[in-house]
Amino acid sequence: MDFLLNEVLSVTRHRVRQFVDAHIIPVEDQVFAEDRAGKRDTLKQLQARARADGLWVPHLPPSMGGLGLGPMGMCALFREMGRSPIGAKVFNCDAPDQGNMDLLLMAASKAHQEQYLAPLVRAEVTSAFCMTEPAPGAGADPTNLRTSATKVDGGWEITGRKWYSTGARNASFLVVMARTSPDPRTGASMFLVDRNAKGVQYVRDIPTLGDQVLDHHEGEVAFEGVRVADDAVLGQIGDGFKLAQVRLVPARLTHCMRWLGLAERSLELCKKYITERVSFGKELARHQLIQDMIARNVSGIHAGNLMTLHAAWMLEQGKPKEAKPYSSMAKTHVARLLCQVLDDAIQMHGGLGYSDDVPFGRWYRSARAARLADGPDEVHIITVARDWLLGRLDVLV
Ligand SMILES: Cc1cc2nc3c(=O)[nH]c(=O)nc-3n(C[C@H](O)[C@H](O)[C@H](O)COP(=O)(O)OP(=O)(O)OC[C@H]3O[C@@H](n4cnc5c(N)ncnc54)[C@H](O)[C@@H]3O)c2cc1C
Repeated sequence: MDFLLNEVLSVTRHRVRQFVDAHIIPVEDQVFAEDRAGKRDTLKQLQARARADGLWVPHLPPSMGGLGLGPMGMCALFREMGRSPIGAKVFNCDAPDQGNMDLLLMAASKAHQEQYLAPLVRAEVTSAFCMTEPAPGAGADPTNLRTSATKVDGGWEITGRKWYSTGARNASFLVVMARTSPDPRTGASMFLVDRNAKGVQYVRDIPTLGDQVLDHHEGEVAFEGVRVADDAVLGQIGDGFKLAQVRLVPARLTHCMRWLGLAERSLELCKKYITERVSFGKELARHQLIQDMIARNVSGIHAGNLMTLHAAWMLEQGKPKEAKPYSSMAKTHVARLLCQVLDDAIQMHGGLGYSDDVPFGRWYRSARAARLADGPDEVHIITVARDWLLGRLDVLV
């Protein structure tokens, strides 16, 4: 593995960092306030600037207006964007749209790429990915899938209920996972469904621990006999679980990249306070128990970065199957790390850390979801342990 970024990537990374520092961070609060008031003016200005600066949809190939970065290039840029909770949205590579773009690029017909993908790339619309269902349906175990798609004349009829469909409220279309046969391996299929199709009912925004801002509203959606045409199937009938893996392994890594960026920024914010605040006769940064927190988190970020880069490198080598346990390891590590960094940031700032005068509490509430979304820790831990026991995972690469 070569850790050196090529010159183009190195320069682009620097440009993204400057963009985030100069244009995004100063207006973060304003973007959130406008969103709560039902406006997106500042966000749209930032998006126009990102597009003009050639930093738009960086994960997509140049033919789609992107930078054709590949997984390792994405690591370099997404970390920088992730330093702001709105960074990915500004460059139009936020979840779930970014993963859905990659999925449509891979599995949608040319006509559907024109109809659904092109406006998504231009940020004229947003999308959602509807896999998880309320119990007893699909969750940590996707084979519990209950939503059904039944063959009818000229298409399929979808019935079921989804929840935690991030962004479904404002989405113009949904990628819906539904059961098309009882087969445990090939019994699921993915469908493109218009959000306003007859029978799609937006039940509610699920009230959660995290802020419900921009398109990060966790939606509950009912599908009551929703008719879609035959060509609404992504890939082939029966490809659902396979496509979910193809979508989720890289999408999981992009989460890690964004979380590493936010963890790094949080730690940077701590530096100012602990180097200025004096307690028991010396600056906090000179107390060993504070140094322990710093070293733990610096090392944790570095380890998470290496794990993420390594899994991305495997994807770049065309080894998605082999990359899976490594991406599970990275996801579990980085999700826990982000929560730990933010908890320590609160601790190091004392009462100030617990207040909304600093962002750690707000960020922590959203960060806690990292240990659940895209599979809870336990499911990824099982993958790592199983693959290691089977000799599929080499810890000393
Ligand atoms: C903020 C947020 C956004 C999300 N966005 C989306 C989205 O856009 N689209 C989508 O489809 N889903 C989304 N999800 C859903 C997420 O993927 C699921 O919550 C997750 O997969 C767990 O499923 P579940 O909630 O049904 O938990 P359950 O399956 O009920 O599991 C509950 C708990 O049991 C434990 N557990 C489960 N299996 C095992 C096991 N084998 N061994 C030991 N312990 C186990 C875990 O601790 C787990 O947290 C989102 C979730 C959150 C929190």
